[in-house]
Amino acid sequence: MSSFNPRHKIATRTRLSEVRYEIRGELARRARELEGQGRSLIKLNIGNPGAFGFRAPDHLQRAIADHIANTDPYTHQQGLPEAREAIAAFHKARGTPNASPERVFVGNGVSELIDISLRALLNPGEEVLLPSPDYPLWSAATILNDGRPVYYRCDEANGFLPDPEQMEALVSSRTRAIVLINPNNPTGANYPRALLERIVAIAQKHRLLLLVDEIYDGILYDDHVFQPVAPLAGDLPCMTFSGLSKVHRACGWRVGWAVLSGDPMACGDFHHAMDLLGALRLCANVPGQFAIEQALHGTDTITPLCQPGGRLYETRRALIESCAASPHLSLVAPAGALYGFPAVVGDAARGFDDHAFALEMLETEDVLLVPGSSFNVPYRNHFRVTLLPEASVLREVFSRIDRVLERRAVT
Ligand code: PLP
Repeated sequence: MSSFNPRHKIATRTRLSEVRYEIRGELARRARELEGQGRSLIKLNIGNPGAFGFRAPDHLQRAIADHIANTDPYTHQQGLPEAREAIAAFHKARGTPNASPERVFVGNGVSELIDISLRALLNPGEEVLLPSPDYPLWSAATILNDGRPVYYRCDEANGFLPDPEQMEALVSSRTRAIVLINPNNPTGANYPRALLERIVAIAQKHRLLLLVDEIYDGILYDDHVFQPVAPLAGDLPCMTFSGLSKVHRACGWRVGWAVLSGDPMACGDFHHAMDLLGALRLCANVPGQFAIEQALHGTDTITPLCQPGGRLYETRRALIESCAASPHLSLVAPAGALYGFPAVVGDAARGFDDHAFALEMLETEDVLLVPGSSFNVPYRNHFRVTLLPEASVLREVFSRIDRVLERRAVT
């Protein structure tokens, strides 16, 4: 019998029942159960560099160690002044208009800042344009803050790039913001400058806030070039999110930031709301903030990993080659970020259910994947893998995937 008191119902006001985060959901729980029974699994569900042997760069670790004795007090709610200076200088050098330490908010990861930003912005029933597929925290935070996600489709046939015309057609009198995730999780798409200019023009025309998640901004492959949005947005209010979790492989440190740009007169209330919400949670993790200056202005340690011979590059190569060799898979090669988002095609795709497939991969092949529909898409024939394991591990994973798909194709 359950010991749970039936009177302790969860809040309905927060619409928790509408929220999903399957990257750490049922399948991950089942994986832990199997591990408890002694099974050895390959877990590709989380973009967690530390879990795959990556370490945060030495000079970042040293920056924390050198300052650890100064990390006892709370800091200002928006973050340590030196850290905010470094972030503002970095974004200013990229051309972000009006970037200043006063307009930087340091948080316990980008995750916290996404929630705070949407809480500062939304009234009940207001709409946020979100990409489909999305990183599901964006949908969750919209719903939990009483907003309504409205999805613009990032079509696979178009390299998972959004169509600005379709995006504009979704704008209503209730729309408050456009969310961009670039480079994208889960698709790896990298948006070209001309496309971003068109999206900025839509936001300008309809007076929408741009919320731009650029946490993968340094992770680009081949000759793909990252274009930050804020420099294109001029006076338009724009919040840019980034942090130490991915480019600097320090996700456990829980350090992220958001930079508000555009006309200060147009974002005064929003700025004050962000400041108040930041004050209510006192401050972000302090030790990690001492690494920010070194991360942004010290040696670049991510680019070599993304170039031929580099670990991420070689694992991405394994992804591309494995999908090309499989009769059951198609792939838009990721231009950036840490994931592949292949589609199951052909005979194996008949009656395909991504959850059932992911469960079968876990139960019979000891591999944990994320079903594509976890990323708020209307189709069920995709899955996501992270590019963080060694290339040989990913090749082994794809041979197991092919084995399962082969069985499905012939039955
Ligand atoms: N945004 C995107 C697109 C992500 O993929 C993630 C984590 O995977 C986050 C935000 C959250 O990052 P953080 O560790 O800074 O909270």
